[in-house]
Amino acid sequence: MFVGHYTASFIAKGLEPRASLGLLFLAAQFLDLIFFPLVLVHAESLTMTVNATASTHFKLPYMPFSHSLWSALFWSCLVFIVSITALRLSKTVSLLLGLVVLSHWAADLLVHTPDLAVWNIFSDNAVKWGIGLWNHALLAYFLECGLLILATVFYLRRTHAVNPKGRYVMVLYLIGLVLLQAFITFGGHVELNKVTYAWQAIASFIALTIIAIIVDRYRRGGRERPKLTQDIV
Ligand SMILES: [Zn+2]
Repeated sequence: MFVGHYTASFIAKGLEPRASLGLLFLAAQFLDLIFFPLVLVHAESLTMTVNATASTHFKLPYMPFSHSLWSALFWSCLVFIVSITALRLSKTVSLLLGLVVLSHWAADLLVHTPDLAVWNIFSDNAVKWGIGLWNHALLAYFLECGLLILATVFYLRRTHAVNPKGRYVMVLYLIGLVLLQAFITFGGHVELNKVTYAWQAIASFIALTIIAIIVDRYRRGGRERPKLTQDIV
């Protein structure tokens, strides 16, 4: 799952518009932002395999530090604690950030083949879960994009545009995300080694976060206040 992870970011932002959409985007991909650097230092593993599933061209044999159930719980608690202490964010925002981190694991559980360790996480015989919707490319795509669209509509209804651009830039961004996922799911195999793939993933997470921050600046929380016609007497 890629853009579908941002479903949780938009729901959280809709619930608490004072939260930073940029931080919520980083939280949504936090486990992958741990995973790819760990691949680069050979602490976790990713192997490029053509048609590993109907939607993906890689396998994920070993990722106990980033994508086991226990590490996901650990990272989400850590993000909550750091947000409330070091970043001095409100309890609500910190809690939402922690939950968005955890949502990544739940969303991965839907699409991954069984590669998410839940028991004996460091062992070769680890118990691993994954429902495997990636094997049904259309279903995975429509689920991922459908959830993202619903969450973005929720965000749009809970915020209002501060200028004319604010009425459409987020919709354009949403269309961009849906097209990006179509390219990832149906675009076919692109020959990449795992180092390039890892750097590309990290760069895209950062780029999408920066765009989210920019686009969100055109909107504010709450309903638009009706413009009062000036009563000049
Ligand atoms: Zn992941």
